[in-house]
Amino acid sequence: PKEVKDYLRLLDKPLDESEAPEARNSALGEDALWHVLYSLGQDNTHLTERKCYWGLVLAVRDRMLEKWSEVQRRYYKNDDKRLYYLSLEFLPGKFLRGNLLALGLENEAHEFLRERGFSLDEIIAKECEPGLGNGGLGRLASCYMDSMATYGLPAYGYGIRYSYGLFRQEIRNGQQVEQPDNWLHEGTHWLIPRPYKLYPVRFYGTVYEWLDDNGILRHDWRGGDLVMAMANDVLVPGYRNGHVNSVRLWEARPHKEFVLSSFNAGDYIGSVQEKISDENISMVLYPSDDAPEGKTLRLKQQYFFVAATMHDMVRRFKKLNKPWDQLPEKNVVQLNETHPSIAIPELMRILLDEELLSWEEAWYICQKLFAYTNHTVLPEALETWTVELMEQLLPRHMQIIYEINRRFLEDVRLHFRDEPDLPSRVSLITAGPEPRVRMSHLAIVGSFSVNGVSALHTQILRDRVFHDFIRIFPDRFNNKTNGVTPRRWLRQCNVPLSWLLSEHLGCGWVTDLNQLEKLRELVDVEEFRHDWEQCRLTNKKRLADYIEKMNGITVNPHSIFDVQVKRFHEYKRQLLNILHIISLYNNIRKKPEVKMQPCTFIFGGKAAPSYRMAKDIIYLINCVARRVNSDPHTRNFLKVIFLANYNVSLAQLLVPATDVSEQISTAGYEASGTGNMKFALNGALTLGTRDGSNIEIAERVGDGNIYLFGLCEQEVIDLRRRGYDPWDIYKNDSELREVLDMINSDQFTPGDPTAFSSIFNSLLSGGDPFMILADYRAYVEAHKRIAHEYVDRELWIKKSIMNTAGMGFFSSDRAIKEYSEGIWDIAPDV
Ligand code: PLP
Repeated sequence: PKEVKDYLRLLDKPLDESEAPEARNSALGEDALWHVLYSLGQDNTHLTERKCYWGLVLAVRDRMLEKWSEVQRRYYKNDDKRLYYLSLEFLPGKFLRGNLLALGLENEAHEFLRERGFSLDEIIAKECEPGLGNGGLGRLASCYMDSMATYGLPAYGYGIRYSYGLFRQEIRNGQQVEQPDNWLHEGTHWLIPRPYKLYPVRFYGTVYEWLDDNGILRHDWRGGDLVMAMANDVLVPGYRNGHVNSVRLWEARPHKEFVLSSFNAGDYIGSVQEKISDENISMVLYPSDDAPEGKTLRLKQQYFFVAATMHDMVRRFKKLNKPWDQLPEKNVVQLNETHPSIAIPELMRILLDEELLSWEEAWYICQKLFAYTNHTVLPEALETWTVELMEQLLPRHMQIIYEINRRFLEDVRLHFRDEPDLPSRVSLITAGPEPRVRMSHLAIVGSFSVNGVSALHTQILRDRVFHDFIRIFPDRFNNKTNGVTPRRWLRQCNVPLSWLLSEHLGCGWVTDLNQLEKLRELVDVEEFRHDWEQCRLTNKKRLADYIEKMNGITVNPHSIFDVQVKRFHEYKRQLLNILHIISLYNNIRKKPEVKMQPCTFIFGGKAAPSYRMAKDIIYLINCVARRVNSDPHTRNFLKVIFLANYNVSLAQLLVPATDVSEQISTAGYEASGTGNMKFALNGALTLGTRDGSNIEIAERVGDGNIYLFGLCEQEVIDLRRRGYDPWDIYKNDSELREVLDMINSDQFTPGDPTAFSSIFNSLLSGGDPFMILADYRAYVEAHKRIAHEYVDRELWIKKSIMNTAGMGFFSSDRAIKEYSEGIWDIAPDV
């Protein structure tokens, strides 16, 4: 069997011929040096890491731009149908390594840096990460952009160039502290600004009516405030296929530099103030991945990027000189959640008021153009806006929404005569003293396709959330189970395992993940299993070094690395995890003679700044960690680590080093999950509920290779219906009672016995809305099984291999193929 060092040595060599860089007249390094002098304006005879980094970035960008411009010309020449993927969030992670890999330039970059005494890893460690998303939804958009480029689809991403991404999380005295994420502080050459590509976007104002030549009532929205949307493009290269797409991120710019009247009146600062407030629109990402805040600025952000995007799409379409009814033949718009659903009334406005189409023509076009992806069934996450705010900010759009609703409800009344309650249930606007627009209903009515993101989630949409709409639009609903890109989430983040895979399977798996199936034949080869374990150990040691550096805690790389990283939310149940850890801690202290498999529990994730309970849970975990890690009785068996500022880069470090992936949401709450896929793909075993895509993962890796526990979705509903009393469990389970009583005392916060009373109360008198106590015993039993089976190394490694082998289905390449064939009706242009 090979030693780890052999793999590390191999890393520097190309995987195979396909990694050879494409022929180009100049070498990457030469171009980087050229850029240091001529683009950065710096001396290129004395290099620093920073100069090398930006020089390389520009040299890589040159190569992408050549391809990108070729590809864009081809879209016109071949008259391709184009996809517009609209998302308020993108979470691409660092760019340099992924782009080098896609272009086959990693080794050239290595060489260039090595000759100058630098290393690619060090340079990349300092690269800053654009955090333009909250979590799963934004990361999915980025995985999908990668797959679209790799598949060669004529596709564009559209979003916002936030000046500040998601806050940087610090942990001080155990509590989350939010710091601004000024990711653009030194500028970035990954964005290509297009200062000439500016569109005006209107807010407020008045709607005027007029009669056209045919006596049809027309509308004209004028006045109000104008803000300019300026394009910035990020290039997205496909993997070794010469295809490059782009994501266009809009940046708000003032309509006029200064308000001249106040400028001349001597109010210099006042005139600048207005400029500042216009630029505010793209200043900061809202830091909540659910519970919309209902703030005017958020609605402004949504309309701002949607209006600019529709303008861009119409501009391109007009170049083709085709009749309007061809718009949906040549374009399709995918709405990532309801955040961009104001695109539907916006396109109606353009077609009706600017292009003077009839309502019927315009509506026909919209309904054939838009498709909507739903990402959540949490009632508090379903977006609504008050009619009052809509009427103020977007008066014309509100009129259009009223008219869409009037026609829709008329139809519903006609077809469902014996259901007088149906219209109010499906209405786009709620009744009551403060009527609100339901954005999901707008998105469903205005789209030709509505999809959920896992089999279970789509079933819940059908059965519960959108049950009424299924009967009205039976053919509209479909499932597209999420996927993740194997380029970033295996090839890039897990180099040792990538080597092992390529050595045995060839390199095809990088773009055809189903080839991992062939691993099943290697499970019984002892040498292969040994190498597999060595790869995992290498990754675990790397993570242990990081933990030592960041948290100052030494962890044993041979302990079970049990990881739960994701946004903090009650339904994701980080609380269930920490309750179990406390009970383990109690057990070790009570029975020091019983030898336990050492375990390292790792947490990471951010809480929305206004989400009190989520922040309390972070505090609890850190307080428990402090106590456990410093206890000499348990130190050798149990460590609890909270890693601050979970983001894509940290995920790339954690995913390949994880033994047990915690996916323990209350069944029926997690739409899909994509973190779960990344871990299993890298050979972690999932400890999970029958929720979201966990169910599909189990089907593919096999029941024996995953630890499923707890109530299923129907059982959660039934138990709640029957009447669930967490006090019964508290009374009957003495071990759990001890844990809860500890939380409700000053055990973890000496001198402050009420620090966690909100948590205790929510679990007991609050009725335990997420059924944590109901699932507790099953969770503990599952952990016991894991600890028992982990010791049997042969068995565990086999299970690990079987996980990777079964995960081919969860490639975002598969998902994007399903979208393009089942919804978009577009084909690759490569
Ligand atoms: N946040 C980051 C940084 C991620 O990389 C991911 C996915 O891997 C998520 C959030 C979503 O995680 P989950 O599906 O576990 O909620």
